Amino acid sequence: MHLVRLCAIVAVVIIALPPLTFAGGWKAGTAKVVITPCEPLWMAGYAARTKPAEGKVHDLWIRALAIEDPSGNLGVIVSADVVGVSRQIWDAILARLDDVLTRDQLMLNSSHTHSGPVMSRTLDDIYPLDDEQHARIARYTSFFEEKGAEVIQQAIKNLAPAKLSAGTGAAGFAVNRRNNPEAQVTKLREEGSLKGPVDHSVPVLAVKNEKDELLAVVFAYACHNTTMDFYQWCGDYAGFAQDDLEKEHPGVTAMFVSGCGGDQNPLPRRDLKLAQKYGKELATSVDMVLSGKMRELAPTLSTRLELVNVPLGQVPTRDELMKTASTGASYQQRWAKRLLGEMDAGRAFETSYDVPVQIWRIGGQLWLAMGGEVVVDYSLKFHDMFGKDAWVTAYANDVMAYIPSLRVLREGGYEGQSSMIGYGMPAYRWSEEIEDRLTSAAKRLVHGNNESASR
Ligand SMILES: [Zn+2]
Repeated sequence: MHLVRLCAIVAVVIIALPPLTFAGGWKAGTAKVVITPCEPLWMAGYAARTKPAEGKVHDLWIRALAIEDPSGNLGVIVSADVVGVSRQIWDAILARLDDVLTRDQLMLNSSHTHSGPVMSRTLDDIYPLDDEQHARIARYTSFFEEKGAEVIQQAIKNLAPAKLSAGTGAAGFAVNRRNNPEAQVTKLREEGSLKGPVDHSVPVLAVKNEKDELLAVVFAYACHNTTMDFYQWCGDYAGFAQDDLEKEHPGVTAMFVSGCGGDQNPLPRRDLKLAQKYGKELATSVDMVLSGKMRELAPTLSTRLELVNVPLGQVPTRDELMKTASTGASYQQRWAKRLLGEMDAGRAFETSYDVPVQIWRIGGQLWLAMGGEVVVDYSLKFHDMFGKDAWVTAYANDVMAYIPSLRVLREGGYEGQSSMIGYGMPAYRWSEEIEDRLTSAAKRLVHGNNESASR
């Protein structure tokens, strides 16, 4: 614990914006802190790892951008180099900010790097952890919650006059992984015959001071952050993109946000040079947007969030769980044994889950941020419904499971069904109501008034 905290204290970097004064406009503030674990910790995202991390390629960070309009409406965007945050971590960070932010005012994004640390209550059953690892993970989770709250408070303290603008670029390395066998992707790309829906857009939010100097850039991309599966801490392509932009623009805070890349992979992969290449491609796209004409955003902010109750689908029976507990893959056995324990204790399984859907309007810019590993169908659908300039992102606030569209749910496969076990859900799948429930909530939030839905 002390070692972890000491590292964090040494690593804190705070970027204060210059004390400008112009009335009636935006204010913005940023802060960032290193969150690279300081003790050997299990790495998140893959069940097949057999040992903790052995070093780092570069540091992992948590970054925050606070924005406030002249009426005092405040929002804080957070970008963290972790696989995902759980509902409990989201709650714990908000509890530390009780008098500062309401739930709708925080957008807690995770980059979904699979070369970051395991945290408590995220994909619990998939890792073969001993008691020592469980203790280290619990210590790290507390550290992450503490640093998350700290970086948010610091960004708010740093609020100073600013200008916000928006634009959209493109990058082409995301491939629909359900439709294209990984080994054939290079050939299929050369032939121009890659299949399946993709969203190659790169939303960009630029924050400048009164002198037009860039202070922060937030950018998104709909693709798993999974080029690497090794034993080194690394922000993967998103980490390299952030590093590249911060090197290119000294003093700037660069923040990656995951789009609806639940069924998208960076392909080909498994080579650090490719992670660097994809990071460079993304950073170059962001830079092209920054150097072009961007839409200036009027200083008005509205923040809304709804916890959308989505019923779970088919529930395992006791007989099925007993069979899985003895014959399933090791992570399936852990899941089945845990659920059998719940049954034996007389506890009923949850029959639904509250999925967060968040809508911000930053001037004329609409931003929908959904919880979970959302498949690309939602991004394409919401662009059709709300306009091509709308930003649709995922992995926000609570990464509890994959979020399939009805099409993907019915097709099945990993994103449609089998991933529910890895996430520890007490069901084989979501119910078929999932897409309708989430779409209705998005419509309600987009077309609602400017009052917060969750205050
Ligand atoms: Zn994933």
